[in-house]
Amino acid sequence: MAQRIKISLVWKGLLAFSLMISFLLALMQCSKESTQTAEEKRSELIQPAKWWKKLPRPVYASLEKVNTSQPWFEVYRLTEDTFAFYEPFQFEEAISYLVSGEERAVVIDTGTGIGNLKQVISELTGLPVSVVNTHTHWDHIGNNHQFKETACFNDEECIRKMRQGVSTERLRSSVTGDSIWKPLPEGFDASTWAIPAVEPTSLLEDGDMIDLGGRSLEVIHTPGHSPGSICLLDRKSRILFTGDTFFPGPLYAYPEDVNIDDYLNSLEKLSDRLDEYDYLCSGHNDPWVKSEVIPRVLKAFRDIMAGKGSYKEDGDIRRYTFDGFDILIRTDMIEK
Ligand SMILES: [Zn+2]
Repeated sequence: MAQRIKISLVWKGLLAFSLMISFLLALMQCSKESTQTAEEKRSELIQPAKWWKKLPRPVYASLEKVNTSQPWFEVYRLTEDTFAFYEPFQFEEAISYLVSGEERAVVIDTGTGIGNLKQVISELTGLPVSVVNTHTHWDHIGNNHQFKETACFNDEECIRKMRQGVSTERLRSSVTGDSIWKPLPEGFDASTWAIPAVEPTSLLEDGDMIDLGGRSLEVIHTPGHSPGSICLLDRKSRILFTGDTFFPGPLYAYPEDVNIDDYLNSLEKLSDRLDEYDYLCSGHNDPWVKSEVIPRVLKAFRDIMAGKGSYKEDGDIRRYTFDGFDILIRTDMIEK
């Protein structure tokens, strides 16, 4: 009898053990699945549901709107010879710029590629137009293929991305679900849309001057958001074109190619030259921001790295809020 009780206890123990193991396995599977879903769906801190509810941003009421044949873009005249092409219907709210001199013009970044940028530009200038990219993330090079000449910073990664283009597969989530809130342009086919590979026709260095005839743009290398990021300084109009080094936000400091030390150095470099520009033409959200924000962004990054500032957290992403801009950063970048 005692023997039988002993065996039955052993069986019960084994049963409990195997139940515990299968419970643990199920738990592991479950958390793996939830990570996968989190990766597929962007954090609410990055892309809030119904993000378009806060549009239009107040600045646009104060700018001169220009009518064109392409409703995908909202076009604004910022100065006599400077136009902004804003894409408010897609989550990135990308902004490209036309900067004209007396002899030629450049388009600074070419947006998502969803709208026909070349058509809009041809309605605004008869000058020869070439592209200058502030960096080569997809939402800045979408329409590069429409132009004959394209320049980017002389950086391996920057050139590689432009040469590679972007596949339909990778772009899919940018034109579906919550990323779009107005109809896509007529003739645009999301099922075949891709960003074509483009070979840069010229490579820029820090300090280069792009001469447009009576107006020039100075190339300022500002790595941080990406290794090959540049800003372009128009001294005559006192404008700094910032690409993604600054936009009101949230500022992306979390992706893999961000380098915080470089970012701090670049913001310091721009702060030191604050007396040369009054306004920032940024790569997203808002095309006309007062330059005084630059030293405040520098201070914000320094505060974050020193463990200060208020934030919301979701997984490994933090969203810090400051006056006029937010910063998205990964926790491992702060704790390093
Ligand atoms: Zn970018």
